[in-house]
Amino acid sequence: MKGKIIIISAPSGCGKSTIINAILAKGELDLMFSISATNRPPRQGETDGVNYYFLSDDEFRGAIERDEFVEYEEVYPGRYYGTLKREISRIVDEGHNVILDIDVKGGVNVKKLYGPEALSIFILPPSVEALRDRLESRGTETAEWIEKRVERAELEIGYSGRFDRSVINDDLSKAVAEVETLMKDFIG
Ligand code: 5GP
Repeated sequence: MKGKIIIISAPSGCGKSTIINAILAKGELDLMFSISATNRPPRQGETDGVNYYFLSDDEFRGAIERDEFVEYEEVYPGRYYGTLKREISRIVDEGHNVILDIDVKGGVNVKKLYGPEALSIFILPPSVEALRDRLESRGTETAEWIEKRVERAELEIGYSGRFDRSVINDDLSKAVAEVETLMKDFIG
């Protein structure tokens, strides 16, 4: 039996990772996280083969040339991220469901590729202003980068109509419950 594919995309600062981690921590729905490849360096606390497969620029280019990706994107200038074909098949061929945390364009592309085998969910901030507040209170970005992320978020929100479903992350526990219900209904 083959597993199903769940795509979660959102602009930066919408709580996407928090929602995904909360659902994975519950351990229901036989879900496994798809580990992407990237050429960005690991952050402190990140491990190769757990958070990402960390590749050099050459290794990433080689994987593109060998057609090893389902999709890949240059999410930030010079920073590539991609979903490996073997990562998806490793999980779904064993009958597990796979969850993908990928950028908005990647989300649209994977949905196009897998059609009814995939459910795509877009996480929205309650408003662009709320997103700006959240990024400011997180305190991890300079004012200049907050503006860049907000600008990019406005552009990305324009893609929400191309996803199967969207969920507004106004209240975290409600958003987690809503995403989980959508997944349960889809997986059956
Ligand atoms: P970060 O560097 O913060 O881990 O991730 C930056 C962005 O890259 C996030 O929006 C994340 O969802 C996206 N991303 C991670 N893996 C992939 C992937 O395999 N494909 C695409 N298209 N985006 C990805």
